[in-house]
Amino acid sequence: MYYFDPHIHMVSRTTDDYEMLAKMGCVGLSEPAFWAGFDRGSAESFRDYFRQLTEVEPKRAAQYGIQHYTWLCINAKEAENVSLSREVIAIIPDFLDCHNVLGIGEIGLNKNTKNEAIIFTEHLELAVRYNQQILIHTPHLEDKYQGTRMILDMLCDDSRIDRGRVLVDHVEEHTVRHVLDEGFWAGMTLYPTTKCTPQRACDIIEMYGSERLMANSAGDWGPSKPTAIPDLILEMRRRGHPESLIRKIVYENPLEFFRQSQGFTFKSPDADDASTINDRTASEPK
Ligand SMILES: [Zn+2]
Repeated sequence: MYYFDPHIHMVSRTTDDYEMLAKMGCVGLSEPAFWAGFDRGSAESFRDYFRQLTEVEPKRAAQYGIQHYTWLCINAKEAENVSLSREVIAIIPDFLDCHNVLGIGEIGLNKNTKNEAIIFTEHLELAVRYNQQILIHTPHLEDKYQGTRMILDMLCDDSRIDRGRVLVDHVEEHTVRHVLDEGFWAGMTLYPTTKCTPQRACDIIEMYGSERLMANSAGDWGPSKPTAIPDLILEMRRRGHPESLIRKIVYENPLEFFRQSQGFTFKSPDADDASTINDRTASEPK
């Protein structure tokens, strides 16, 4: 089965991982900008990182037939530094017309601080000004419920935000209902043992249905598994779910969400459908 990983940090993975993903059926992925495993010292470091996301990674992915898309921002962890964050936000418009950019993300909260909230709302301003889709990071573990509630309140307070164009990631059992009930898309981030496992994700699908719900692997610097989506596919099959439901979660839903972005020029790998999903002709990076 083909699948699309909507949230995976390939800058932290090897080229062998790209090959493994391709062999397991991954035909496309999207990579939000995030923390690099260390705090960066200047806005120019982010400019180089954005070049990596818009120039280098798409080429690495293409070697294995994987279509690579990306999102730009300064992540919540480094957003504690407000002046650096503002410098980075000022750079982002230079990259928004690059051929694989889908929007602003992953923005959100880490420790739910005042500074993080300030930079979160400034990213929202940027997204509204440039009519961009938004990808949200919600905090992990004990900060998750409160952080998710704060984020949803900030989003809902702004009537300019189209909720159908916002994906809220890292949902778990105690946050998914809030996200879906408010009209947003929800992403379950699968980790091999901690946080949301493939088994728990399968439970969530059984409880909340498949509308506006998708799954991703994160595949980041920490302990994570880039092939976590095939694990979910296996778990859903083991429980007897129909192939159509599995395909909706791991392929059709991500495509339906991303299709709202001007930058999404995904080509179906089906031999009888060579047409692009989005009419926009791909342009070269600036
Ligand atoms: Zn992430």
